[in-house]
This record gives sequence, structure tokens and C-alpha cells, in this order.
Amino acid sequence: MKDLRYLDDVSTLVLNEEKCIGCSLCTEVCPRGVFEMRQNKAHIIDFNACMECGACVNNCPSQAISVSPGVG
Ligand code: SF4
Ligand code: SF4
Repeated sequence: MKDLRYLDDVSTLVLNEEKCIGCSLCTEVCPRGVFEMRQNKAHIIDFNACMECGACVNNCPSQAISVSPGVG
């Protein structure tokens, strides 16, 4: 039971939709169009595009996003 993960060799981006308050800031600051708002929640629509810049993490007011830059 250790295979719970997304695609290999890409981003460490994690979005906790339960924490998301729907401010949509992440969709505005992400330079890669990774997020989209759906029913007032952020969703990851292009996971592989994430370059781990951290802009979404720094701007999210509810700590719903995490990323660990510098891994790759
Ligand atoms: S870390 Fe940067 S590229 Fe990745 S989702 Fe957040 S804002 Fe977009
Ligand atoms: S910045 Fe955070 S709270 Fe705002 S929409 Fe994105 S994930 Fe949700």
C-alpha cells in the first residue's frame, strides 16, 4: 500500500480541495494555467505543467496548496 501518488517524475504539487475557500487567486497567479475554478473550488487541470514556482502556495489564503520545490 505505498503506491498512492500521482504521475512520476513531475511536480510535487498537492491541492487540498477541502481547504479551498474559492478565492481563485491560484488561477490568477499561476503562470502555467495549472488551476481552474469549478463550482467555487480550485481544481488541478494541468498537473504536468506545474514548474513548482510556488506562486500559488504563497498566495493561497487557506494553505490549500503545497509544493516542494527543488526536488527535480
Ligand atoms: S507552483 Fe507555480 S506553476 Fe505550479 S501550480 Fe503553483 S503557481 Fe502554477
Ligand atoms: S488560492 Fe487557495 S483558496 Fe484560493 S482558489 Fe486557489 S486553492 Fe482555493
